[in-house]
Amino acid sequence: MKFSKIFIPTTKEVPKDATLPSHQYLVRGGFVNQIGAGIYNYLPLGKIVLDKIRAIVKEEMDNSGANEVQFGFVTPLSLWEQSGRASTMGHELLKFKDRKQTEYVLSPTNEETVVDLVKNRINSYKNLPINLYQIYTKFRDEARPRFGLMRGREFLMKDAYSFHSSKEDLVREFHVMEETYKKIYTRLGLEFRVVAADSGAIGGSGSKEFMVLANSGEDTIVVCPNCEYGANIEAAIRVKKHVTPWYENTAYEAKMEKVETKGLKTIEEVSNFLSTSQSQSIKAVMKKAVYEENEEVIVFFVRGDDELEETKACNAVGALELVDATAQEVEDIGLVSGYCGPFGLAEKITYLIDNEIKDEVGLVCGANEVDYHFTDTDLSTLKDVKYSDLVAVQEGDICTCCGGKLEYTKGIEAGHIFQLGTKYSESMDAKFLDENGKSKPFEMGCYGIGVSRLVAAVIEQNHDDKGCVWTKSTTPFMVDVIVSSAKKEEELNAGIKIYEDLKDAGIETILDDRLKERFGFKMSDYELLGFPYAVIVGKKLQEGLVEIVDRKTLDKTEVSLENVQEELLKLINS
Ligand code: ATP
Ligand code: MG
Repeated sequence: MKFSKIFIPTTKEVPKDATLPSHQYLVRGGFVNQIGAGIYNYLPLGKIVLDKIRAIVKEEMDNSGANEVQFGFVTPLSLWEQSGRASTMGHELLKFKDRKQTEYVLSPTNEETVVDLVKNRINSYKNLPINLYQIYTKFRDEARPRFGLMRGREFLMKDAYSFHSSKEDLVREFHVMEETYKKIYTRLGLEFRVVAADSGAIGGSGSKEFMVLANSGEDTIVVCPNCEYGANIEAAIRVKKHVTPWYENTAYEAKMEKVETKGLKTIEEVSNFLSTSQSQSIKAVMKKAVYEENEEVIVFFVRGDDELEETKACNAVGALELVDATAQEVEDIGLVSGYCGPFGLAEKITYLIDNEIKDEVGLVCGANEVDYHFTDTDLSTLKDVKYSDLVAVQEGDICTCCGGKLEYTKGIEAGHIFQLGTKYSESMDAKFLDENGKSKPFEMGCYGIGVSRLVAAVIEQNHDDKGCVWTKSTTPFMVDVIVSSAKKEEELNAGIKIYEDLKDAGIETILDDRLKERFGFKMSDYELLGFPYAVIVGKKLQEGLVEIVDRKTLDKTEVSLENVQEELLKLINS
């Protein structure tokens, strides 16, 4: 391909809302352009990258034995009503009516479609298992589409769905998918980590995310430097943080005193005043839980030096989401902000307590009265309390697998695999006959990869202050032959010769033969576009020399014309 013939509208202009390098460079490099909130066009270079990633995903999915299909992008809302998700998906599900007033949705994912397809077509255990996948457009009306391709509204996903006659077989396929995903991300040249994930409202035990490690990642992941443990913070666990030795195994009796703490509301103020540590107190976090039909202010109690993990809290109360409760809403149900504690709360108030302070003695908490706290409380005296894991694991907390000190790192969720079980087969009445002729709902798994998000993730992990640094398996071209001054016939001809030879040797090459652009401009385009290598055909051509540039290091090496191809092959295969 020649630069003079390919549409690569590079620009120095940074899109206004672009904070991430991948967003800036992919737009500036003319890989993609935005036409609406979270909606992108792929220009020639972007399309090549997208197709390369897609091809690797397809190859490995096919190798795993999955079958490629393609579902309609538009699906009837009636299917979503059968599964119950028409109401639970919220505003991410974009609905519309056709001219006959029939309602449809733009597929944000395709469990309903695939269950409808398999139902009544597979009736016997003899035809199981099966794994069907597609690589196709999705639409989610995200509340905050941002970061370019990272969180679009229209995006490309690989989504796979497997059907099994038993849980054991589902678990087998889940492992096959995990291995397949590892091969995919390895082939893409990415540094990644497989982590335990939140299973959300769907429940179940098996859910893993594939995180591309990058500082800008939206997800915080908790990892152990000593062992393999890794989990999204939404699902991370730790060894219980505090033990309170002064009363353990003794007949300690808490005195529960009410003390005046005038104007002191925060954990810090109260602990300082009472000369206790923050871990010896109970923090109240008030949130409004939003359900399908109603809303409710709920109080979550955690230890004073812990933070509420909102996803855990949301799952614990089975809400669609948690939002901040306003001062008015808090007051309306009789909660005393700054002085709220689990003792003596009005009966109508729903509250949950973190597992780690179950039955704890000696803690300070609000007395549900302005300017008063209780000291030396005993949580075991509370009746009918719901305990749950509610806290965010912190750096330095102890790993439950090996005792190591946990650390945080940032990741981009590039894939998610899930043991669904019978959630959809039951709600949509999709059954098969087992060995004994008994009718059973299918066991299902689902497996997603953010194909277009990966285009951005590659750059998020591989860039510098000049531009993109593509990995070898994702780059649109391996080599850019830059003719320093294309007006000089000799230089242009030498460039064309190198370009033709490289192409003949099977190397994906682009020739920067632009007549009107200066060398500096071509070079900065090269740095922005980020192909792994460049060959500069310039002044030293008279001596039979050209330069090879390594995009990662920007190091330049002089080589003779005869050796260019050999040297490049060495680098490419290294
Ligand atoms: P997130 O938590 O980032 O919103 P999700 O849990 O909603 O992701 P899934 O429903 O598991 O995502 O979708 C499978 C994959 O599709 C994700 O792992 C991610 O890589 C990709 N993906 C999800 N939402 C988007 C989006 N808005 N834009 C681009 N890719 C996305
Ligand atoms: Mg999402």
